[in-house]
Amino acid sequence: MADCIFCKIAAGEIPSTKVYEDDHWFAFRDIEPCAPVHILVIPKKHVDNILAFDEEYNKNFADFFLVIKKIAEAEGLKENGFRLVINTGEKAGQSVFHFHAHIIGGREMGWPPF
Ligand code: IMP
Repeated sequence: MADCIFCKIAAGEIPSTKVYEDDHWFAFRDIEPCAPVHILVIPKKHVDNILAFDEEYNKNFADFFLVIKKIAEAEGLKENGFRLVINTGEKAGQSVFHFHAHIIGGREMGWPPF
């Protein structure tokens, strides 16, 4: 999508620290990490957020959790776990309107998250 910063990152038009890529997914390090490991996982095919999904688009997510698992394991997060955050909507903290999941790990975390 034109003027989408994450579409441009996935296309290599804006530099990023890539940690994973396949035909459908792109993952890179967050520019303002909130933990030792803070990675953003995005679909290459643009969608604003979960609220914009329909049944057809959802088919792109069949392997989503396996990709998350693959990245988490490669980052050494298997033993101590990690947090997966998907801010959806401006009032919930979404600032970039291209779906992204934050993989956050490498430190202890509290609950609730706010
Ligand atoms: P959100 O608040 O859930 O939408 O998360 C957006 C995230 O994107 C934030 O954690 C930002 O630090 C991160 N971010 C924004 N621009 C860039 C970039 O150019 N490279 C890497 N991370 C970015």
